[in-house]
Amino acid sequence: MLTRREILRATACGAAALTVPGFAHAADDDKKGFTLPKLPYAYDALEPVIDAETMTIHHDKHHQAYVDNLNKALGAAPEWLSKPIEEVVANYKKLPETIQTAVRNNGGGHLNHSWFWTMMTKPGASTGPKGELAKAIDDSFGGLDGFKKVFTTAATGRFGSGWAWLVVGKEKPLAVISSPNQDNPITEGGHAILGIDVWEHAYYLKYKNARPKYVEAWFGVINWDTAAELYAKAKKG
Ligand code: MN
Repeated sequence: MLTRREILRATACGAAALTVPGFAHAADDDKKGFTLPKLPYAYDALEPVIDAETMTIHHDKHHQAYVDNLNKALGAAPEWLSKPIEEVVANYKKLPETIQTAVRNNGGGHLNHSWFWTMMTKPGASTGPKGELAKAIDDSFGGLDGFKKVFTTAATGRFGSGWAWLVVGKEKPLAVISSPNQDNPITEGGHAILGIDVWEHAYYLKYKNARPKYVEAWFGVINWDTAAELYAKAKKG
């Protein structure tokens, strides 16, 4: 038997809710805020490029902390807890001033890492760019090697903690940029196709201080299918 509360919720959410137990659309569920997404593969799937221990700490501890701190900060503006994370990060300057920095850092951390996991795949499945994306890489960087060179310069040259990104370009189809801390290109209206985390927590256990070695190896776990999807979506606007 459905309780009155469940019936109200099911009615509000449409017929599908009747057949899906725990279907969470109701506002009181939304107040729980953001949650840690599951990794789309096992912790050791990216071995030997990224070791299982790094993946476990990175996902279960670092990403979880961004989620927890984001939810805590948005306690001061709870209506934002039910918005897509992209919208929150793109518009953090509209939030109360007292929580802008916390949301910029932790909302950015949640968004960046949610994307990052999907931008990687096991080494054997990383096939290289195809179709439209391959053509855009050729037109923008003179080929895959040219892209790798520019991306490596951005990733290794970012002082301190941050990210390097492949984004939709203004003059050419694609461009490479880097950002400090957990800033995401979306805040400046950019569209990311790929991003590499160059915080030490992303590579230090295995690569120690050798960030260039991590970046070089990372090319071997790029999920080019995700990149192609993001590129197609960005081009549609
Ligand atoms: Mn990270």
